Amino acid sequence: FLRIDKLVKTFGGNQVVKGVDLSFNKGEFVSLLGPSGCGKTTILRMIAGFERPDSGRILVEGKDISGLAPNQRKIGMVFQAYALFPNMNVADNIGFGLKIAGMPKPQREARIEEMLQLIGLSGYGKRYPFELSGGQQQRVALARALAPSPRMLLLDEPLSALDAKIRVSLREQIRQIQRELGITTVFVTHDQEEALSISDRIVVLNTGNVEQFGQPFEIYNRPQTRFVATFVGTLN
Ligand code: ATP
Repeated sequence: FLRIDKLVKTFGGNQVVKGVDLSFNKGEFVSLLGPSGCGKTTILRMIAGFERPDSGRILVEGKDISGLAPNQRKIGMVFQAYALFPNMNVADNIGFGLKIAGMPKPQREARIEEMLQLIGLSGYGKRYPFELSGGQQQRVALARALAPSPRMLLLDEPLSALDAKIRVSLREQIRQIQRELGITTVFVTHDQEEALSISDRIVVLNTGNVEQFGQPFEIYNRPQTRFVATFVGTLN
């Protein structure tokens, strides 16, 4: 469904993505896992179209999306935190992309209600972001990303600013919604436990290279490199 082909990105002489090849199936939940600075976010931003690769290709259903602007890629994205529009209520935040796309108000309202139900926040439409907890804000950010029915969801450490307890419950909720919608999802995290517990497959990255790509049990039980073994904690 999503194919990444020999992707390279350099910032000021520093090659941070070094010829990455990956292929994801439709409906799959894949984590990009690795330490700070390994290039996870840069890969995600290239998929989203916010960053231009130096070379290599990104294909969705066989079509090269390089020439498409971010808003033409039909991709939903959720960032670390505080990405909601603070001066708009929850309903307007969720409906923002729909309004830009020219969806008429009655349909927009119905879709916003559907999204509020999906994230378990019916009745919260009139509230403002500052009146919500961090976890609730991230659920609204998820609803906003999903409202225009994207074909792919990109999550950049969406849980990292939250308390440990909320982090676990929210990741399970995200996974449940992802399964329900069957939406292909790429999830960036530096937390091994998080990646192992929610992914169909995991890409372990180290300084711009793929160390291993496999199912959680393979990554955990059969690490192929010393780096993977150390990073997932099976070797100290
Ligand atoms: P983190 O979890 O810390 O965000 P990451 O694995 O997501 O790490 P990236 O954000 O992709 O890593 O960054 C990879 C490297 O590229 C880092 O060394 C970073 O400093 C550098 N980098 C990222 N974006 C830019 C930029 N716009 N200009 C210059 N250097 C950048």
